[in-house]
Amino acid sequence: VGASRNRVDQGNFDIPLKNGELGGVVTRFPPEPSGYLHIGHAKAALLNQYFAQKYQGKMIVRFDDTNPNKEKMEFEQSIIQDLKLLGIQGDMTTHTSDYFDQIYDYAIQLIKAGKAYVDDTDLNTMREERGAGIASKCRDHAIEENLRRFEAMTQGTEEGLACCLRAKISVDNPNKAMRDPVIYRCNVDTPHHIHGTKWKVYPTYDFACPIVDSLEGVTHALRSNEYRDRNPLYGWFFDALGIRKVNIWDFSRLNFVYTLLSKRKLQQFVDQGVVTGWDDPRFPTVRGIRRRGMTIEALKQYILMQGASQNILMLEWDKLWALNKKVIDPVAPRHTAVNEKDVCVVNVLGGPELPECKQLAKHKKNPAVGTKQIFLSNTLYLDQDDASTLEEGEEITMMDWGNMFVKKINRDPATGRVTDVDAELHLEGDFKKTKKKLTWLSVVSPASEQGLVQCLLLDYDYLITKKKMEENDDWKDFVNPVTEYKTPALGDGNLHALQRGDIIQLERRGYYICDKPVTSADPVLHLIRIPDGKAQSTV
Ligand code: ATP
Ligand code: MG
Ligand code: MG
Repeated sequence: VGASRNRVDQGNFDIPLKNGELGGVVTRFPPEPSGYLHIGHAKAALLNQYFAQKYQGKMIVRFDDTNPNKEKMEFEQSIIQDLKLLGIQGDMTTHTSDYFDQIYDYAIQLIKAGKAYVDDTDLNTMREERGAGIASKCRDHAIEENLRRFEAMTQGTEEGLACCLRAKISVDNPNKAMRDPVIYRCNVDTPHHIHGTKWKVYPTYDFACPIVDSLEGVTHALRSNEYRDRNPLYGWFFDALGIRKVNIWDFSRLNFVYTLLSKRKLQQFVDQGVVTGWDDPRFPTVRGIRRRGMTIEALKQYILMQGASQNILMLEWDKLWALNKKVIDPVAPRHTAVNEKDVCVVNVLGGPELPECKQLAKHKKNPAVGTKQIFLSNTLYLDQDDASTLEEGEEITMMDWGNMFVKKINRDPATGRVTDVDAELHLEGDFKKTKKKLTWLSVVSPASEQGLVQCLLLDYDYLITKKKMEENDDWKDFVNPVTEYKTPALGDGNLHALQRGDIIQLERRGYYICDKPVTSADPVLHLIRIPDGKAQSTV
């Protein structure tokens, strides 16, 4: 056990699928089109793809569309697009609703075999009876009566609407999932997003899933292990209906600290305006984390690293972001920005009268990233945080230029903040001997092509203040009041060329992703800070 545990921890997935044959494995990813994909779905999708590829088999993307109240075409389209972002394309895309006729026939078959009955017990009573292991008053109704009432459900009559269809499995099985589960429900509230009002009864997930898995030739159903209690139920239908069996393979559900991973709850955040949309950078959706600078490469590595572990863990975001940093650091171009609000001016004695252009590598260790131009001049901007540490007489290094002596420091007498500094160029100085290597920007006319770029640096915090949300917690009690931080900044002229989605490093600040480039209509560049797994946010 120790050895295999170890393998798993190292992210080795060499755990065979039971009965997995090369070329014969079919997996499926079955999202309900009731929201946008989140990072938990990404895990499920990537694992299904992983095993399909490993066994040179197939993967089906199946929209699990049995509850019209929650489902929309908009969500289907977004799911397809997000899967594409993840590099996933199913060999087939299907819908559970493609099989509504067959599923319905199987329901009739079960009723005729005396293995299902129609129940008009009200919801609360049914819940109590199930909890206490008491049989429903309808459990022993005759087959004809069940068929008659299922027809009433099918028509959506008043009588039918008060009923549901239940599989006749057990009244008091210790596993409550086996206590006569509901397999069909009436729904006349909302038209189905594909079939409109054709159907007034819909199968539940418990019933539809094993049938469609069996019909579609799925060999291995990968499910997150919160369904484990339902595995015997999943298996029961194969025998009861006499259909081909499917293997189950459980994987652990992803949970993250300070994070809700439920489409239903995320939808509420969107509806209540807590976030700007499903792609909000604070959201754990595929779109949200992408927008915040998560790479697909890091996401894949992270998910495969967890391997077949069955522990339902509360994961920290830090590890994922630290992994992401390893992916982006070798390729992210380096740039410079200073805080606009609190900038200090440096007069460089001996500096060039007219700005002088210098060509530099965008990444010191990776020439493939390309080159950039910077300007040397006799007037520089320095961050107040740096300026306030300076002492007269001190020798400092201006990164990518050279050393200078601090000659004079002028402070605002009221606030004490450094307004300007005189510094003397000392290019013969040894940068290895200075303590401070500072980032700076030449004050270049903003009108020029290479003029400084107005930036808005955006940083985000967790949306909720509770580390581990419990099932019954109302998220509204734990909304973090401030989750967006904006810092106006000035950046070097090369930032003019940034496109949406470009990832850079601002030296001595961190990694950023371009969220809105400079345009003629709006010259302000929006840069979202990419967490690097180090500085934990302020919660
Ligand atoms: P949600 O509550 O967020 O809507 P769900 O399980 O109802 O989640 P589905 O669209 O039915 O969402 O899920 C599609 C697949 O994604 C299922 O196989 C499900 O097990 C898996 N999945 C959903 N959430 C997670 C998660 N947090 N970790 C791992 N897998 C998940
Ligand atoms: Mg579901
Ligand atoms: Mg759910």
